[in-house]
Amino acid sequence: TGKLPFEALSVETLAARLGANTALCSHIGKDTPRWKVREVGDGNLNLVFIVEGAQGAAVVKQALPYVRLVGDSWPLPLKRSFFEYHALTRQQARAPGSVPAIHHFDEGQALIIMEYLSPHIILRRALIEGRQLPNIARDIGLFMARTLFRGSDLSMVTKDRKADLALFADNVELCDITENLVFSDPYFDARMNRHTSPQLDSIVAELRADRDLKVEAQRLKHIFAANAETLLHGDLHSGSIMVTETETRMIDPEFAFYGPIAFDVGMLLANFWMAFFSQRGHEQIGKRDAMRAYLLGVTVETWSVFRSEFSHLWRTERTGMLYQKSLFEDQGDRLGSEQALDHVLHQIWTDMLGFAGVEVHRRILGLAHNADFETIADADLRATCEAKALKFGRHIAVSRRQIHSIDEVNTLAALIE
Ligand code: ADP
Ligand code: MG
Ligand code: MG
Ligand code: MG
Repeated sequence: TGKLPFEALSVETLAARLGANTALCSHIGKDTPRWKVREVGDGNLNLVFIVEGAQGAAVVKQALPYVRLVGDSWPLPLKRSFFEYHALTRQQARAPGSVPAIHHFDEGQALIIMEYLSPHIILRRALIEGRQLPNIARDIGLFMARTLFRGSDLSMVTKDRKADLALFADNVELCDITENLVFSDPYFDARMNRHTSPQLDSIVAELRADRDLKVEAQRLKHIFAANAETLLHGDLHSGSIMVTETETRMIDPEFAFYGPIAFDVGMLLANFWMAFFSQRGHEQIGKRDAMRAYLLGVTVETWSVFRSEFSHLWRTERTGMLYQKSLFEDQGDRLGSEQALDHVLHQIWTDMLGFAGVEVHRRILGLAHNADFETIADADLRATCEAKALKFGRHIAVSRRQIHSIDEVNTLAALIE
């Protein structure tokens, strides 16, 4: 069978084009005239369709040869769909049940057919609405520890890890987006930057003139680019997590790449801290004091679950070529292995704070803003929230080596707020 050239799907053409897809039909039924198709993509990059048939529903996600948010003036390879598919299969293996089930992948059409998560909603939206979900910290902490530990040389057969490193090394363009948008653009007058203006103009000028901050951001970029430690999700923010009252699923790992363990953890926690600083802008129908306390509690619990699961895996699944048991436990030296674990966790902690700090900055000063702040209609109020978050981000990035506990970070957050 000849390979068809790539063609973007549309609500009108989807049933005709995928009507013979056995994976899709087996999940939703074959009666294509009765399929109902909606496009729901709210992300920056891709098309996402929900297809409902007589027997069920599925999601069809398709990459476009350009950035959806910007248009065809910004080309982006279709191959990101390949990386997303391969990342999802690895996440499913390493943290079963944490991602949508994958039904089908078509590399030529850059499309993934997957489980329709329902009644899940995007975590960011739930946090903006002021909902306190009881399980997210535990679920996300476990997901991060399991995927980040099990994708590294602490766990994998080194030959397999190197093969994976090579496979994901080709995700150049999406890495390039992170490298520029996260670590550099916020700190100079980059073309696609925007911020709440004129309210934040003077703070923006200050940050761009802040030598210590710029050096730190570049040190973090250096770590991101050079420390190919584990397979990252790469875009683990609250917009890449879908939740119900009791369930948590991670989606959208197209930025997957081998990088530092601390990157996913820092990006994720930054999004909780931004949710915290944005609450002041969402108090029209009631104070959000309890929500603020909840969010800080979530950061504490997420970090603590991450730490203890990572430690558990260190003690029970350390089968890779790093810190081999033959050097420690096998010689009766459990203390040596615990000392090494302490070092590894300390490094993750210090770098995590740095990644969190720059993530806060880029969401307020760069191209890709987040709804937590964007949905605050009153620009003065929004700027007040954003300015506090910027100050917080600057502190945790620059002083990260002098901060020793998450409680210390949260005390600072509460003081600034
Ligand atoms: P992008 O890469 O463009 O950001 P996402 O994978 O984040 O695309 O999907 C965009 C939106 O589509 C999500 O915010 C969510 O609302 C919806 N979505 C994506 N995957 C699913 C799924 N498996 N089930 C239900 N909704 C989904
Ligand atoms: Mg997304
Ligand atoms: Mg996105
Ligand atoms: Mg995406």
